[in-house]
Formats: sequence, C-alpha cells, structure tokens
Amino acid sequence: MRLDELGEFAVIERIEKIANQIFPEKSSSVRLGIGDDAAILRPPSQADIVTSTDAFVEGTHFRWECEAVRSIGRRAMVANLSDLAAMGAKPLGFTLALSVPPSLEMKTVADLLRGMLLEARAANCPLVGGNIARSPQTSLTLSVLGSVKRGRGLRRAAARPGDRIFVTGVLGASALAWKRVESEGKPMGHRPQARLQAGLALSCLDSMGACIDLSDGLLADLGHVLEASGVSADLDLQKIPLPRGFRAACRKLSVDPLELATATGEDYELLFTLRSGTRMTAPTLARKLGLPVTEIGTITPQGGGTFIQKSGWKHF
Ligand code: ADP
Ligand code: MG
Repeated sequence: MRLDELGEFAVIERIEKIANQIFPEKSSSVRLGIGDDAAILRPPSQADIVTSTDAFVEGTHFRWECEAVRSIGRRAMVANLSDLAAMGAKPLGFTLALSVPPSLEMKTVADLLRGMLLEARAANCPLVGGNIARSPQTSLTLSVLGSVKRGRGLRRAAARPGDRIFVTGVLGASALAWKRVESEGKPMGHRPQARLQAGLALSCLDSMGACIDLSDGLLADLGHVLEASGVSADLDLQKIPLPRGFRAACRKLSVDPLELATATGEDYELLFTLRSGTRMTAPTLARKLGLPVTEIGTITPQGGGTFIQKSGWKHF
C-alpha cells in the first residue's frame, strides 16, 4: 500500500511494529522509546554523550536501481554507527527522520527499515524515535546517540609527531564492489561494518593518539587528522592492507589498486595513532581489537608535508 493511502499515524505504527519485531529485547538504557513527544535515554553514570547525524539522500547517496532496498538502509545505518565507533562510543539508540514521496510503497519503507534495524540490532542500537515528512525524493536522516567513559572520547585532533599510524581491516573492498556494480551491472553485494568493538577497545588504551573512521578514503581521512592535529605524516603505501585477490581484480577492471584503496571511501575501518613509546605491536592490537591491524606510517612535525612512499617519494 502507498504511504498516502495509509496515512502518517498508520505508517508510524507500522514502523514501530517492525522495530519491535526485529529488536524485541528492550535495552535498559531506553527508558522511553517511540510514541511520546521525545525519547528518554539513560546513559551509564560517569559517561559523556556522543552524538552524530548523517543524511542518506536519493540520487546523492543511493539509487534504487543499484542495490537492494535493504542494502540502502544498512549502509545508512553503518555510516552513522561508524561515526560512533570512531569516537570510541557505545551506542544508546538512534532516531530516523524520513522524507518520502507520498506515492512510495509501505513495503519499500519497511525494507529500508529492516536493513537499518538488522545493522542496529547487531550494534545494540535501538530505534527510539523519528519523524516523517513528504518530499519529492526519499532521504533518510539518522541521528545516533552513544556514550563514552567521561573524557575518553577519541578525537581527530589528538595526533602528535612520533605517533605510529595504524588501520584496522583491509581497504578498498567497497570501492571495488562499486566498480563491479558499474561494470557488471550487478547489485551491490559488499557490506562494510562499523568497528564499534575496536573503537571501544581503543578508547581504553593509555597510549592512544587520534582516531577517525575511513568513510571518504584513507588519504582524505588521514588528511582530516593531520589538519586537526597540526601535523604531517610519512605513509608507506606498500603496507596498505588490501583484500585477498584485490590487485588481480583491479587489473581486470583497469584500475590502479592503490588508488582505489586509498582515494575512495566506505570502508569504515578505523585509522588511529598510538604514542611512539607504546609497546603495542600490530598483532597485540589485533587481539585487543578483534580485527586485523596494520601499521602504515608515522606522524611527523607540521611543515614536513605528507610523504607517500610508493616507488620513491611523492609529495602532496
Ligand atoms: P510529535 O508531533 O510530538 O513530534 P509525531 O506524531 O511526529 O510526534 O511522532 C509520534 C511518535 O512517533 C514520536 O515518538 C516519534 O518519535 C515517533 N516517530 C515518528 N516518525 C518516526 C520514524 N520515522 N521512526 C521512528 N519513530 C518515529
Ligand atoms: Mg509532540
């Protein structure tokens, strides 16, 4: 049935019902969920609240014809959860502002929601409220709320000269999957994940420097850390961790693997720095974070420029 045939309140009722189906366990941090003028959340004591919002807009962030409807919902949720991960925060809940054409089918909204909620459930991040408005195109604006131990939130601006630079996981899988969508016309099948456990583990490390999630690509996001921290970096591109079979797949598509892995986004891995004095090695970190971890460079004093070691030095 179309949304305008159902009417706003019936749509909200359906949304609440789907949320209860997918997320039946009640989270103890939600004192009041969907249904009142606002939700009430109770963070752990001695916690700072972390919040972030991100819009997912038809034509800009997604196209109906390129992926399953659920996948659109999943990606919107992961992008938001990843911002909490990058701050070292634990999710408390999220709200969803939906802008939709009145002619949209309820089934489509239900599938968007299922995609979001499946990711949200894995992250223990319940839907606690939202809004619906009519609009010529569909957009999903999610706001996530999380908590972090007081004063322990991770920041971009905390890198210092001498810090060692690490990344979790492998880079480039999302970009490659999108290339395949383009060239083979298959729907998007790759599903990145928000690194919430890893972010939480990092927020407990004494030797922690800066942290950011890789949403726009390694070079752009490292650039944000460097700018915020007033430092430069030496980066060894040969050390960038690539997915298995990545170089061969890139060759087939005539794309440069290192460029694809470093200049494009949606990997949602974490990039972080640790103080030079730390005894942590990549394998120790991998055990703590529950993910592969690779050391890819060092932070240098500002004005050094950023050097990328590929074959010889390249300056940008
Ligand atoms: P109000 O008029 O007080 O803003 P609404 O009638 O817009 O309240 O919404 C009623 C309840 O339904 C609120 O608790 C709101 O958070 C929830 N809600 C509305 N839209 C959504 C949505 N898209 N997803 C989840 N909850 C929603
Ligand atoms: Mg009200």
